[in-house]
Amino acid sequence: MTNSTPRPIIDGQERSQGSLGTIQLVNPATEELIATLPSCGAEEAAEAARLSVDGFAQWSAISPFERSKVLRRAADLMRGEADEAAAEMTREGGKPLAQARGEWLASADLLDWYAEEGRRAYGRLIPTRASDMRWAVERRPVGPVAAFTPWNFPAWTVMQKVAPALAAGCSVVLKCAEETPGSGWRIGRALLAAGLPPRAISVIWGDPAAISSTLCAAPEIHKVTLTGSTRVGRLLASAAGQHLKKVTMELGGHNPVIVARDADLSTVVPLATEFKFRNAGQVCVSPTRFLVEKPLYADFVAGVTEAAGKLRVGDGLEADTQMGPLTTAGQLSKIEALAADAVQRGARIETGGSRIGNRGYFFQPTVLSGMTPEMDAMNEEPFGPLMLVMPVDDIDAALTEANRLPYGLASYAFTNSMSTERKISQNIHAGMLGLNHFAMAMPETPFGGVGDSGMGSEGGSEGMEAYLRPFLVSAKIG
Ligand code: NAD
Repeated sequence: MTNSTPRPIIDGQERSQGSLGTIQLVNPATEELIATLPSCGAEEAAEAARLSVDGFAQWSAISPFERSKVLRRAADLMRGEADEAAAEMTREGGKPLAQARGEWLASADLLDWYAEEGRRAYGRLIPTRASDMRWAVERRPVGPVAAFTPWNFPAWTVMQKVAPALAAGCSVVLKCAEETPGSGWRIGRALLAAGLPPRAISVIWGDPAAISSTLCAAPEIHKVTLTGSTRVGRLLASAAGQHLKKVTMELGGHNPVIVARDADLSTVVPLATEFKFRNAGQVCVSPTRFLVEKPLYADFVAGVTEAAGKLRVGDGLEADTQMGPLTTAGQLSKIEALAADAVQRGARIETGGSRIGNRGYFFQPTVLSGMTPEMDAMNEEPFGPLMLVMPVDDIDAALTEANRLPYGLASYAFTNSMSTERKISQNIHAGMLGLNHFAMAMPETPFGGVGDSGMGSEGGSEGMEAYLRPFLVSAKIG
């Protein structure tokens, strides 16, 4: 283990041993072992939960103004290690270096934004029913938080939880993804170096089920927040519900893109190709089901086929790579199976469709046309480089298909008609709608889904709200 090997952090100390032995980190581009790390379980989770009570008492007693300075200092420290953090993120998860660097720096900006938002957690005075009364509502931090994060955006998804929780005055026990622990570890270190009380944050990983069942049941923890799959969302929301804890669940999606007959393909095609294959399609808001009105269908398919075929796939550490490998061997097998099922049921591979080589989890950027609703890929979240294209007769048919699934995270539409825009925005079942573009997650704006895509929002002032509770002081002043 070297100084740049991620280690769990508890009580401000980096641990070189875990109660469950070790886990191995593998580079998805080469399948080589990167490092062997301590593995935590129920023991560390219980310890971190216990300490988070002290951390909460200390951190919430500091004024929002001073807390804000600590968080801003941490954001600056993060910017100072962008090169190392990005290289580590690419080695662990596979995304191209420029995307990893962008994510790291955006996460530092997110921390800055919440550092300021924490200073604006205003309460309110309510007009009373009697002149000798005063009704004041404060907004107080909910208490220690357990946060669970996935591997696809290992810095951003951590920061979407840690930044608003700390800005609100909460302490955090962070369980980051076992595949990509480096970013959470670095964020924890930056916060501690910036002056966060040591017990206000713990960073652990190891056995997810043991850690989550311990934290969801721990009386010290007051809120559970997860970004992850719908399957794990159900597990954690049930466990938290059993103990009446608040939850935020940012889960999977199967995001429709409606391409109306009046859309401008010279805009849609390059944007669709760029965003579909970003992070090899392993993005919760990735555009997934492309529902194209028939007059544009053939040209759309030809355009994206040509553009996808030109993408350079390779090790994310190489400068000209546009798409890296999938992050895990499991993802690779799932994508192979979904593509095979679609073809077997009549879809056509326009480009791609196969694994690349036999070392590293590389899969070709793939366009599948002639998709129909019964194919597995049209129902399960693919989370990979499959662009699924289906022709539709009209906007009503597109909306029917878009709203068919129980998911409702992001949705997108491309049109130049105001009435089509209005029709789609009034009838789409989703947490978010991107009109004529795909860029979704910003510090200032809420981000979240409905139905099987989860509950609650991150980002924006809504993201802070999730870590605050109202406290009423009803005073007789006469
Ligand atoms: P996952 O659900 O397998 O894991 C998410 C986290 O939960 C990990 O830290 C995992 O270790 C942990 N976990 C806790 N208890 C667990 C248990 N009992 N069993 C298994 N894991 C447990 O998700 P993933 O594969 O890491 O990430 C991909 C998923 O995350 C996709 O479905 C994607 O759409 C979703 N996601 C959603 C958003 C969003 O904001 N809505 C953002 C990014 C990713």
